Amino acid sequence: MTAQDPSMRPGSGSGHLAAWIPTGLLDLDPGSSLPISNAEGLTAVQLRWDRGQLLAPIPLDPPNVSPEALVLPRLVDAHVHLDKAFTWSSHPNPSGTYLGALNANLKEHATRTEEAVYQRGEQSLQRAFECGVRAMRTHIDSGGPGARPSWDALLALQQDWRQRIHLQCVALVPLEFWSSSEAEDLAVQVAECGGCLGGVLAPPRATAATADQLEVLLRLADRLGCGIDLHIDEGEQHPAAGMRQLLRALGHCPVDVPVTCSHASSLALLPPRRLDRLAEAMAEAALQVIALPLTNAWLLARSEHATPLQRPQAPIRQLQRRGVSVAVAGDNVADPWFPGGDFDPLALLAATLPLTQLLPWQRLGLAPFTTAPASMLQLEWDGRIGAGAPADLIRIDGDSWSDLLRPSPRREVLVNGHWIAAQGARP
Ligand SMILES: [Zn+2]
Repeated sequence: MTAQDPSMRPGSGSGHLAAWIPTGLLDLDPGSSLPISNAEGLTAVQLRWDRGQLLAPIPLDPPNVSPEALVLPRLVDAHVHLDKAFTWSSHPNPSGTYLGALNANLKEHATRTEEAVYQRGEQSLQRAFECGVRAMRTHIDSGGPGARPSWDALLALQQDWRQRIHLQCVALVPLEFWSSSEAEDLAVQVAECGGCLGGVLAPPRATAATADQLEVLLRLADRLGCGIDLHIDEGEQHPAAGMRQLLRALGHCPVDVPVTCSHASSLALLPPRRLDRLAEAMAEAALQVIALPLTNAWLLARSEHATPLQRPQAPIRQLQRRGVSVAVAGDNVADPWFPGGDFDPLALLAATLPLTQLLPWQRLGLAPFTTAPASMLQLEWDGRIGAGAPADLIRIDGDSWSDLLRPSPRREVLVNGHWIAAQGARP
């Protein structure tokens, strides 16, 4: 699909569709009667759109009218790494460990060219677009020899794709970088492209130097009006040590810009009361969390001879209960950190459910995949389906969540020496 396609022309499309919509995502006119929700939290509506915008949804009356489609808004992946996507085959990490991933990543980084990063990013964006993604936030390895070509490629992609996918860039560097003489130049570049300052806060780092580095970062981001998005507590040791340091730094140095905590995995290892108090402090500091369950489940608590029963990952429900906004995102796709992934938000939803036990038919079970990431990226549209929203939807055949959640990878099957027709149809 190119920018010349009719679907890309602003205000061009009109049409209609009867569909089941998650009731929590319906934005009906005030004064309209309460929609009837079925046992799966779905409401049947007639959707209409004109010149690229939705008109007010009209509730239908099942079982008299029973739509054969489910609809979600086009979705948002709030944490990806487009610069390293699809590098697993050239830089695999057969040990499956965090350290193995880091080493392979560093080797790959030294080989980067702008063309290679552009090509991988283009492949990623194309896949994401076809799967129904409308916005992404990518972290970019921003120190060392691969930094310049990576940024040049991603900034070009941000422009080339701006009509199809809104792309935000985060400068991922060691925390101490923001105290160096090169920090200002990179931070200004990030601010100019509407991005965020990033970094890694992994314990054990409870030193005075780390505290200073955090405060320098907070002040710099606040001065330039840049959001912050940190890889924090991605581990199984020293539960929440990074989060406590961040809260202390924010106590000394409060900021007006949004602060996002990606991973927050080791928080799950805190005893319940300490976690509850921490979540309260995080809500008070307006911290928001992006949970990345697939990469965490793959890398963390790995043991050579045992299947781990304790799985460090962001404690989504406990955080939500205290008012912390949590999104779920894809993180790595076919890179040394995780060999799977697909940039398909529905595959991510399906894969996440058994890891998190979120119930998508509940408002807070679905928000991490819909409205929360839209709000974290400060997008104009929150993802709710109502009059005036963009006509940007994902349609799936079916009338049940189960139709949406059953993954169906494309495959070919050989039977008795004959290829039978290709099966599977996602997207
Ligand atoms: Zn990441």
